[in-house]
Amino acid sequence: MSDPGQSRLRLMHVHAHPDDESSKGAATTAKYVAEGIDVHVVTCTGGERGSVLNPKMDRPDVLANITEIRRQEMDRAREILGITQDWLGFVDSGWPEGDPLPPLPEGCFALVPLEEAAEPLVRLIRSFRPHVLTTYDENGGYPHPDHIRCHEVSMYAYEAAADPTRYPDAGEPWQVLKVYYQHGFNRPKTQAIHDEMLRRGLESPYAERLKEWKPDPAHDARITTRVPCAEYFPVRDRALIAHATQIDPDGPWFHVPLEVQQSVWPTEDFELVKSTVPTELPEDDLFAGIRALVPSDS
Ligand SMILES: [Zn+2]
Repeated sequence: MSDPGQSRLRLMHVHAHPDDESSKGAATTAKYVAEGIDVHVVTCTGGERGSVLNPKMDRPDVLANITEIRRQEMDRAREILGITQDWLGFVDSGWPEGDPLPPLPEGCFALVPLEEAAEPLVRLIRSFRPHVLTTYDENGGYPHPDHIRCHEVSMYAYEAAADPTRYPDAGEPWQVLKVYYQHGFNRPKTQAIHDEMLRRGLESPYAERLKEWKPDPAHDARITTRVPCAEYFPVRDRALIAHATQIDPDGPWFHVPLEVQQSVWPTEDFELVKSTVPTELPEDDLFAGIRALVPSDS
């Protein structure tokens, strides 16, 4: 018997905190959702230790209820993006500051043993059965302990989910066909937007960042896949603004006019790291090589 729900293409993003799904790969998400593809976001932690980054929300009543407020923000972002989402339920490790760095807080996500931390993700992979999974690279995209742990847990769970001998009580094995790392914040993109801002006589929010960010062509060359998604940048921005404690709508995120972003860098960029299907690089579609195998019913 054919079950139409089982033939649809499915994409799973694994993220560290609520808001990461809206700041990384969100226009790609919106594009695939518009195509009728099921997109499921897994959020490893509740973001409990994130600071309030929007001055308008930096109030005692917000700080006192930060966990609940971040959940409500996520509810809103989920609606805007048209996704489903699960929390793994781990506690934010926080961004360690000081010299020497303080130890990570007891019980936080980054300190949970890998095998234990991966179990709920294995369960979700086996129930949602994604054809494509995205996560961060081994540096976490940026070196927050939860982002690095998110990478480790994702790769561990990807392997384990397909192996019938592991986590036998966590559902039927499922082989994810392709795994990508998110590379949305790459230096060439930042430089290109910076240059275009200056060319137009506008102030670039990236001058400082680019000064400190050494060019690393080998890292840039890791990008295999550029997904055109410029028409979905406004959806990405709305989802991001839904995370009101994390994003200042008047802050640097929104200094670059949409039209500059859309004309200079109309893609979101990824690195293909695992594939069980033949595909040709470079790609412009996370489902390249999969569409013929798994026809969408939409
Ligand atoms: Zn994060």
